[in-house]
Amino acid sequence: MPTRHRSLAIVALGVAAVAAALAGGAAAASRDEVRPVRPLALEATAPVAKQAAARAQARAWTPPSASEDRSRAVGKPNDGRLRNGLLLPAEGRDFTTFDSILERAPSREWRRYGTGRLLRVVYAALRDYREANPDAPRVLIGDLSRPRGGWFGREYGGLGHASHQNGLDIDIYYPRRDGRRRKPARASQVDRRLAQELVDAFVARPEVRYAFVGLTVGLTGPAERVQRLPHHDGHVHIRVLAPRG
Ligand SMILES: [Zn+2]
Repeated sequence: MPTRHRSLAIVALGVAAVAAALAGGAAAASRDEVRPVRPLALEATAPVAKQAAARAQARAWTPPSASEDRSRAVGKPNDGRLRNGLLLPAEGRDFTTFDSILERAPSREWRRYGTGRLLRVVYAALRDYREANPDAPRVLIGDLSRPRGGWFGREYGGLGHASHQNGLDIDIYYPRRDGRRRKPARASQVDRRLAQELVDAFVARPEVRYAFVGLTVGLTGPAERVQRLPHHDGHVHIRVLAPRG
């Protein structure tokens, strides 16, 4: 090999060596960022077992009785606060929570606070609904109030709420015709028969003051309590009466 070619070959080898060293360095750096390796079995089963325990715990929860309940609605649904609010679990026997902004289940905790009174009504109505419709999918629950209530407007995502301020309001998605666990985007996706049963189960509870339903979804009830509003073709908004005193 002529000298000039040999020196070119050496340069090429040198470049390859530098490249290999760089690649090795990069691999080492990324290895450092990886968490320490733990036994595979633990890695795979621990979070699953933990999740199962959390789910079982959520499903076993029931709202406190009126005499044990320290939660209080303060002020009005459109201008109020929530004292000692109770957290609705991520899911229950008869429901799953669904985050309308992130479009996933469960909903974020801070969107799920209410009075015990509201939660007792929800648990009782959903139990009645499930017993009458044992094959229906679990109901999806949307927003309640923030942990201490107060303003829940647009800055918290989507259209926001004018009310939902003192733990007496809750949004519940209508069951879908295709049975999917997502909120219906329009009235045509709603299983009208099941949706009417759901509204009826709430209206049967004397504590329910209003059920706000959509303009085109075609749901009915006593006119002074079942009222039509824009933006309610995907969910019914239930408001319970503030307790006296
Ligand atoms: Zn609402």
